[in-house]
Amino acid sequence: MPQLQFFDFRDNSQQLWDEILATQKDAAQSLAYKLVSEAVRDENGCLLTETTATRKVRFARLQFTAYRFIYCALTETAASSDQVIRHRCHNRRCVNPEHLTIGTKADNKHDDWEYWANGIDRAYLGTVAMHP
Ligand SMILES: [Zn+2]
Repeated sequence: MPQLQFFDFRDNSQQLWDEILATQKDAAQSLAYKLVSEAVRDENGCLLTETTATRKVRFARLQFTAYRFIYCALTETAASSDQVIRHRCHNRRCVNPEHLTIGTKADNKHDDWEYWANGIDRAYLGTVAMHP
């Protein structure tokens, strides 16, 4: 019977981000800041990409959604495949790092329910600590 390694398992997404943050962090953060700086600020403080669909970005020969890339690069987080980057502002075009947070898929659903029930909680926005 093979021993399953539950404790130290790093999935593909985590291994990828471990690698990026270890070897290409400066390049990843430069690209992330460039994406943020190119976005347009709206009246909610959201930074919106010019695309109508979710912005994609290529890095290290791979494709990412821009907001996931930005969150992982700027907060130096190796997100797993099961972790989603959540929009506190509920605008998936937003790439403002301060509006992004990490959670599970279940959290993301819960956010949607909260939003549908109560609208955006503005006090909740703008509290993410970022690495310089
Ligand atoms: Zn936003």
